[in-house]
Amino acid sequence: MWFRRDLRVQDHPAFAEAAASGEVLSLFVLDPAFARAGLPRRHMLAACLAALDAALGGSLVIRTGDPRVIVPAVAREVGAHTVFVSKDFAPYGRTRDAAVAEQLRADGRVLRGVGSPFAVAPGTVRKGDGKPYAVFTPFSRAWRAAGWAAPIETPTAVRFIESLTEPIPAPLRATPAGGSAPEAVATSEVTALERWDDFRRSALDDYQAGRDIPSIDGTSKLSPLLKFGVIHPRQLLADLSVGEPGHDRFASELAWRDFYADVLFHRPESAWRHLDPRYDSIRYDTGPTATATFERWCSGTTGFPIVDAGMRQLVQTGWMHNRVRMITASFLVKDLHLPWTWGARFFLDHLLDGDLASNNHGWQWAAGSGTDAAPYFRVFNPTSQQERWDPEGRYVDRWIPELGTSSYPSPMVDHAAERLEALARYESVKQARRS
Ligand code: FAD
Repeated sequence: MWFRRDLRVQDHPAFAEAAASGEVLSLFVLDPAFARAGLPRRHMLAACLAALDAALGGSLVIRTGDPRVIVPAVAREVGAHTVFVSKDFAPYGRTRDAAVAEQLRADGRVLRGVGSPFAVAPGTVRKGDGKPYAVFTPFSRAWRAAGWAAPIETPTAVRFIESLTEPIPAPLRATPAGGSAPEAVATSEVTALERWDDFRRSALDDYQAGRDIPSIDGTSKLSPLLKFGVIHPRQLLADLSVGEPGHDRFASELAWRDFYADVLFHRPESAWRHLDPRYDSIRYDTGPTATATFERWCSGTTGFPIVDAGMRQLVQTGWMHNRVRMITASFLVKDLHLPWTWGARFFLDHLLDGDLASNNHGWQWAAGSGTDAAPYFRVFNPTSQQERWDPEGRYVDRWIPELGTSSYPSPMVDHAAERLEALARYESVKQARRS
C-alpha cells in the first residue's frame, strides 16, 4: 500500500482492498519534489505521517527518493504482486503514477488505483454530450446525482510486513511560521473526527450565515485534513441531512473542491495559465515597483485592515478564512494590478491546505479568468467588505494589534481609482476579444 494524499486507515478503499488481498507493506515515499511545497505543508505532512504510523501500529515504511525508483524497488524487495494506491488526478501525480505503473509492469507487477481523495473522482461528472462542465452550478447538480458510496469498514487484523525504514521526518517547526498556535492543525484521524463532531454540534446548522464571518469558528477548518486525506469527504457527506440549509451548503462547498479538481484534471495547463486564454493579453504590473507593492501585500501592511488581518492570519497560522481569501486575492489583482500567479504562489507557500486545484482556481475566480460566468467587473471593496463581515472589528483587532495607532500605515492605494483602472484593463481585454 503506497500512501500519498490518503493518510488514514478509516474509510480507505485502497487500504481495505490491500489488506483483504494478503500481507501489506505500508509505504510512504518522501519525494524530493515535495521541496516545492511550502514549509507549513511539509510540517503538516510530517505530523500526519507520525499519526498514520501510530494508526498502523508503527509499521509505516518511509523511504526517500524518486517514487519511480523507490516503489518498484520496494515491491521487488518484498515480492509484492500489486501496489495499491488511491488514484491521484493532479498533473504531477498523474505523470508520476503512469511512470511507476510502467516500471512495475516491466517487472510483472501491477499498480492498482482504488478510490480517490474526492467524493466524485475527477473526470466522472460530464455533460450529456460527454464534455466536462465549465460552470459550477450545473456541475454540482450532476455531482449530487452521481453520488458516492457510504463509508466502508476499517480493516482489522491486518498482517503487516516490516521492512527497513527511515525515521519519520520531525515536524519542521513547532508552528508553521513560528507564530501563535496554528488553529487548523489537528493531524490524526481521531482529532479530525473530533473536530468534525465539534463543528457539527456548534456551527453546522448556522453554516449558511456563519461561514462568512471571519471572527468566529463558523467553518470546519478541515481543509488541511482533507488535503492530506486524514479524513475523506465521503465521511463528512455521510453525516449531513439533505434539505437542511446549513448541511446542503456544506455539501456544496465540498462540491467546489471536486469541481476545481475536475477542471484541473481536464485542463492541467490551467494550474498556472489563464483558464480563459483570452485573458493572456491582460496587463499586470511587474518590475521593481510591483515587487515592492507585492511585499506590502505579503507582510500585511497595505493599510486596509481586512486585507492585512488576512495576510497575517495566513503567515502566522497557515490558514485563512475563505471570505478573506477572496478579499485579499481580489485586492492583489484588482487594486494592486499584480499577476494572480504571484498571490497563488505565496498562498501555496504558506497554506497548510495549499492545493493546486482549489488554490489556483480560487485565484482565477478572483482574477476573473477562471470558471466564474461573468466576473470581470466584480471588484471587492475592502472597506465595505470589512463593514459587512467584521462590523465590530473583532477579526481585524485580533490580527493587527497596532490598528488605530500611528504605527499602522495609511491605505497604500485609493480603492475607487484602482477599481476604475482595473475595469479599464479588463475592458481592453473585452475589446480585444471583440475585434
Ligand atoms: P469549510 O467552510 O468548513 O468548507 C468545508 C470544505 O469544503 C473545505 O475544507 C474545503 O475542502 C471545501 N471548500 C470550501 N470552500 C471551497 C472553495 N471555495 N473551493 C474549494 N473547496 C472549498 N481551499 C483549499 O483546500 N486549499 C487551497 O489551497 C485553497 N486556496 C484558496 C485560494 C483562494 C484565493 C480562495 C478564494 C479559496 C481557496 N480555497 C482553498 C478554498 C477555501 O477558502 C478553503 O477550502 C476554506 O477556507 C477552508 O476552510 P474550512 O475547511 O473551514 O472550510
